[in-house]
Amino acid sequence: MKVTELISFGESGLKETSDTPRLDAKVLISSAINFSDTELITRDKEEVEEVLLERARTFLGRRKSGEPVAYILGEKEFWGLSFKVTPAVLIPRPETEQLVELALEWIGDRDVRVLDLGAGSGCIGVSIAKNAPGKVLVTAVERSKDALLVLEENIKRHSVDAKVTTLQSHWFEGLGVERFDCIISNPPYVEIGGGIGVDHEPDEALFAGEDGLDDYREILPQIEEHLNPRGIFYGEFGSTQLSRLALFAEGALGLDCEVSFHRDLAGLDRVIEIRKESRE
Ligand code: GLN
Repeated sequence: MKVTELISFGESGLKETSDTPRLDAKVLISSAINFSDTELITRDKEEVEEVLLERARTFLGRRKSGEPVAYILGEKEFWGLSFKVTPAVLIPRPETEQLVELALEWIGDRDVRVLDLGAGSGCIGVSIAKNAPGKVLVTAVERSKDALLVLEENIKRHSVDAKVTTLQSHWFEGLGVERFDCIISNPPYVEIGGGIGVDHEPDEALFAGEDGLDDYREILPQIEEHLNPRGIFYGEFGSTQLSRLALFAEGALGLDCEVSFHRDLAGLDRVIEIRKESRE
């Protein structure tokens, strides 16, 4: 079979599973047969070797049965960096880059202590450690042992071992009285029974009770005590949750905290910001 035939075969096989069958087929095939994107075009008349063909068929078969491309390839790009991913971690989403953008802008060139709460693959904390120009120390907290292994590999992969330390903990539990200048989190916030069924990603990274705010109910009341004066928190949430989250935040936070919200590029409510004032 020629490369071009393999792509057509892959595309037609993925039509029912994927919204982007041709793209998925090309990405999976290029990885399976070790061709670059350009080679897929320039060498498209070449016959594919049997072993490579078999590999490509396996990748396509996994995608056909619903597995996300990122898990098949074992990696996903985020903030221009390639992160290792396994089914133990949530696949980094492009909208989460907004958390990194906001944090990097707030940090500027200062030396700060950062907490990545529920770090998963580590995409947020590692991207910040890699890109902040000052002396930034990141603590990446993660509850799942399997996710921690992936997180640690990503720290090594991007050579930020000196800047990022990991801690196995459920939210703030293992942190004691430590305080940070900037806390960032993408906690689970999907509503159970809300119609979204995610088959391959870890439930504990996605779902948070009937209204999707169970984890925020746990996290928000503890933010103030873990922020330094003039510190900041950025958290991602679902676009329909703003009013409930705002109401809860009002009750859960002290008078020293100021709450505001940010929309994403699609105009959807996406990030809660909590600033702690300097009174202390
Ligand atoms: N944005 C993700 C989704 O819609 C949810 C991520 C999360 O719960 N933190 O699948």
